[in-house]
Amino acid sequence: MVGVSRVTVLGSTGSIGQSTLDVIARHPDKFSVYALSAHSRIDQLAQQAQSTRAQVVIVPDRQAALRFRSVWPASLSSPEIRIGAQALADTAAESQCDVVMAAIVGAAGLPAALAAAQSGKRVLLANKEALVAAGSLFMAAVRDHGAELLPIDSEHNAIFQCLPHDGRASAPAGPAAGVRRLILTASGGPFRTRQWSELNDVSPEQACAHPNWSMGRKISVDSATMLNKGLEVIEAHWLFAMPAERISVVIHPQSVVHSMVEYEDGSVLAQLGQPDMRTPIAYGLGFPERIDSGVGMLDLALAGRLDFAAPDVKQFPCLNLSFQALKAGQGACIALNAANEIAVESFLNRRTSYTNIARIIEHTLDWHAGFATPAFNSLEDVLAADQMARTFAGNSSLVSR
Ligand code: NAD
Ligand code: MG
Repeated sequence: MVGVSRVTVLGSTGSIGQSTLDVIARHPDKFSVYALSAHSRIDQLAQQAQSTRAQVVIVPDRQAALRFRSVWPASLSSPEIRIGAQALADTAAESQCDVVMAAIVGAAGLPAALAAAQSGKRVLLANKEALVAAGSLFMAAVRDHGAELLPIDSEHNAIFQCLPHDGRASAPAGPAAGVRRLILTASGGPFRTRQWSELNDVSPEQACAHPNWSMGRKISVDSATMLNKGLEVIEAHWLFAMPAERISVVIHPQSVVHSMVEYEDGSVLAQLGQPDMRTPIAYGLGFPERIDSGVGMLDLALAGRLDFAAPDVKQFPCLNLSFQALKAGQGACIALNAANEIAVESFLNRRTSYTNIARIIEHTLDWHAGFATPAFNSLEDVLAADQMARTFAGNSSLVSR
């Protein structure tokens, strides 16, 4: 990369956002921060803006803007404060930045991620929900506007690294030549050795205690139910133009092999490393160069062994529901994601049980199957379907009010 790339980090106060700023801080000669955004942790946003000298910050509402002003030191000149969801999308599209890290959690991150793709930027995509809800729209935007899409989700970043490419990241029109199958690894989460039927009373704290990765609360619950792996199968389908039948999942408790690509000749290429998101983030920032991520080297002798097993669909009903949605089409994928966001939020707020997450998703998919599937030609179509599914899932009798 020539010169200093100006980076916008959407969701900078989250787990991925913080890791991104950590990598950027290691390379002041290569990257500067243009804009940062936060939804709730405004004090943390102000600290980040001070240390990165961001020019713009985006906050959700006026109250958050007032808070930002009140904690900003009077002796320093303040970054420009922008307010609201539209400001996220507008900033992602601005010519003052070259790279957008899309690290907002949930479908709330979709409009800004799409705006970054439509303005032809390098998009570092952590926000998998954007692809699950609007894969065809998003990939078409990448193609039509010459954006560079680099997957940050560790599995997809691993697969990207194992696929042939010419040093430019783009949106493939079909599966890469010679590739037979994509194999996503899954740790199995904190309940890997427990039966689904034993999990009714688990708490949010137990569900969020991931054995290998430190992540935001929503994705941590998704990892426990393995709905996360289901979202990732859908994500892989769009990113790599791969049919569902050619994507499989294998349980790998150590999270050292981040995913694999199987070729026609029987070769399997894998990417390995420590379970630390700074590796895929550094890969995306530096691509096609390799740059320091701050992650320690992998010592396989110390790891000792790597285990693999087929997932038990009875133990992880959410995985099956995801394959079902992918086969049913985009409307079902929107419903799956929206229902899951509502169910997980309800579980984290102790308004529904852990095992109800799968039930709420299943009921929402059943409800959705009663509709003729419309075409999703615009962001508005996707957001309208997302809202309907949220309303249905939120009204579920399984959620207490
Ligand atoms: P997190 O909860 O730690 O952070 C989420 C960020 O999004 C925060 O900065 C928050 O302020 C912002 N945000 C939340 N709701 C918002 C809204 N409605 N509008 C605008 N901003 C909002 O989440 P995370 O773990 O960093 O995950 C971010 C994304 O990356 C998710 O889509 C997740 O699936 C994906 N991802 C995360 C990891 C990981 O290791 N954490 C790995 C792979 C993929
Ligand atoms: Mg992942």
